[in-house]
Amino acid sequence: MTKAVYYEDAYIKQFTSLIVQTGVDQAERPYVILEETAFYPTGGGQPSDQGTIEDIPVIDVEKSNDAIIHYLKSPLKMKQGTKVTGRLDWERRFDHMQQHAGQHLLSAVFADHFGWQTTSFHLGREINTIDLSTDSLSEAAVHEVEQAVNTVVFEHRPITATWVEGDDWQRYPLRKPPTVSENIRIVMIDRIDYNACGGTHPKGTGEIGAVKVLGWQRHKQGTRVSFICGWRVIHDFGKKQQLLKQLTQALNSPEDELPTAIDQLFDRQDKLQKKVEEQNDTLLDYEIRDLIAEAQPFHTYKLISTSFVDRSVKTCQKLVGSITDQEPRAIVLAVIHNDARLHFIAARGTEPHYNMNAIVRQALPFINGKGGGRPERAQGGGEAVVTPDFFLKHATQFLEKETLVEE
Ligand SMILES: [Zn+2]
Repeated sequence: MTKAVYYEDAYIKQFTSLIVQTGVDQAERPYVILEETAFYPTGGGQPSDQGTIEDIPVIDVEKSNDAIIHYLKSPLKMKQGTKVTGRLDWERRFDHMQQHAGQHLLSAVFADHFGWQTTSFHLGREINTIDLSTDSLSEAAVHEVEQAVNTVVFEHRPITATWVEGDDWQRYPLRKPPTVSENIRIVMIDRIDYNACGGTHPKGTGEIGAVKVLGWQRHKQGTRVSFICGWRVIHDFGKKQQLLKQLTQALNSPEDELPTAIDQLFDRQDKLQKKVEEQNDTLLDYEIRDLIAEAQPFHTYKLISTSFVDRSVKTCQKLVGSITDQEPRAIVLAVIHNDARLHFIAARGTEPHYNMNAIVRQALPFINGKGGGRPERAQGGGEAVVTPDFFLKHATQFLEKETLVEE
């Protein structure tokens, strides 16, 4: 049985002890068991400690029956009975103590003020969560709880622990019955919380530091609340402050006017977008006029055979549509080349009676393409395995054949 010295003093950062057993487990992880340890093993919602034993990193600590097993990064090549030194990653442990004790307070106040029970707790690497038995958590309730919890923090109330046996726990106003029947540890936060708990806690609420709820969302039948405590609040505030500084500089606006500055930015962008669209339409009109002016005579009609590179298919469709609307004698064969794709549009005005769909269907196999449409307008897309010029040359030949069919 390993003696857990973290229960005598949760502030032991370094200790010496004797090796009881070393070995490798079924998953080939080297481990060591000591006579006593300050390393807290995973349990009760609190992750295990890390640190070193004889300078070998301790990766994980688990409790198995009465033994506390330290899993090491590499084997400890020392005999049973040898004295070793263990050092905790104190920053990690103290962080766990702050988050864990902060959770005690949050859960206690949610229960006392609103009757909402905590059904589960997760201490995460960055953010912690508790699940509450309510689906009606409000901004006002969160504010009230934060105020009450942080008041208890600033009152620096003592946190103590005691061990009881058998039914003795019934003498304490525990929030719920203990899950173990012997060696029951009761953790008391003065005048607010009595809990059967095996975790590590600071000796007073002041050491928890600020407790801040970050947000909440519906989860199953209840609500999942995310929060941080202590140093995490300081670090998070620092990050947010840095972010705000960047935003105020980028938007050239004081902090509390940022929302207005962002609204204005969106507004300006909308207006610019509209202007750009208008100007694009104007440019498109010029392009359409030029294309019609440069059309080749084709029998009694006007043939516009053209290709575009890196242009949206939608814009080109609009362009082709405008040409056939404006020029009833127009026949348009247009290819759009975008990266590895070719898109083909064949369309005509009201005067020619060629079947553009037939041309598209005959031409698309050149690019392993698919598509179709109506006799007056059809299109399709495929792979850019031939050049636009090659494709247009053949599409024009199909058009010639169509004229033969027509005549
Ligand atoms: Zn606890």
